[in-house]
Amino acid sequence: MIYIHVPFCRSFCTYCDFYSEIAGDCSMNSYADRLIEDIRQRRDEISNEVNTLYIGGGTPSVLPLSVLSRIVAELPPGPYDEFTVEVNPEDIHEKGIDYVHGLIDLGVNRISMGVQSFDDGILRWMNRRHDSARAEEAYGTLRRAGIGNISIDLIFGMSQLTDSVWEETLRRALALSPEHISAYQLSIEDGSALARMAADGRYVEAGDTQCRRHYDILCRVLGAAGYRHYEISNFAVAGAEAVHNSAYWRRVPYVGFGPGAHSFDGARRRWNDSSLTSGKFEFETLTPRDAEVETIMLALRTSDGVPASYLHAHADPSALSSALAKGLLVSSGTHIRIPEYHFFISDSIIASLI
Ligand code: SF4
Repeated sequence: MIYIHVPFCRSFCTYCDFYSEIAGDCSMNSYADRLIEDIRQRRDEISNEVNTLYIGGGTPSVLPLSVLSRIVAELPPGPYDEFTVEVNPEDIHEKGIDYVHGLIDLGVNRISMGVQSFDDGILRWMNRRHDSARAEEAYGTLRRAGIGNISIDLIFGMSQLTDSVWEETLRRALALSPEHISAYQLSIEDGSALARMAADGRYVEAGDTQCRRHYDILCRVLGAAGYRHYEISNFAVAGAEAVHNSAYWRRVPYVGFGPGAHSFDGARRRWNDSSLTSGKFEFETLTPRDAEVETIMLALRTSDGVPASYLHAHADPSALSSALAKGLLVSSGTHIRIPEYHFFISDSIIASLI
């Protein structure tokens, strides 16, 4: 499992606090030089327990194909079971179908496109570069080029997002028939433009009731369309569950290259400094308890849940009995899971157990 972080964006979204640089300010080739050096030094950390490659950001689609192919050439030769690249609709529009053919030639077999909304007012507020028509056009380009596995990212939980506008966004997403949809609740992250807007009163955060309504609409609409809600924020048609991200939730070791990228070898977590140039990194060694807590937290976010024997061995016994008695957790034979209608409050359920 390999993750490559591309720390460039063309503009900054209102809600985002990710580390990224405005593309064009830095040389993408010198970024690739450093990344390639890092890959060469740490090649033996690459494990193929799960054979996936994920290029995320930032906005990987701002990288020219020539730079992307230099990076991919340093990695184990594919084919990968899943090779995902995150793209922005505006880049697909600007670069056209030849760019997508180039991605396919590199071995890419899955695209994750950041759409976020199909409402143009919301997209402007988010400071996204594209509008809804552009997202639909880009989706069509991906399909025409031959991408058979597309994931769309959406965001809900904005206080100005009405239920009907949210339903319409979901309707337009479904009209495209993506294999996968990720839907995240907006959060106010320190350092984002949104945090400044909230601090000076230009944005008032949505309440829990409104967010819960959005989440219920999401579950209802995508469930009715046949999508499997296999993780709190992720929905897929049968067989299109994300291989790479699902492995994160099982705590499979992975290696991450690039500024800000994380790696995990089963016992230690490493994170690279977010600067493009420092080359520094830090390590954290997980205690056995850290590992147990992480296993429970990640597995309970999925529809499979956690093996019952593991939960009984490592969770607080009285909290576990109480959650089972109240229906906050349900037992399905070998596993215990949070039922979909309680996913929304999963954080508090999990916190009570650990
Ligand atoms: S949300 Fe994505 S595109 Fe927007 S600023 Fe953050 S990393 Fe860049």
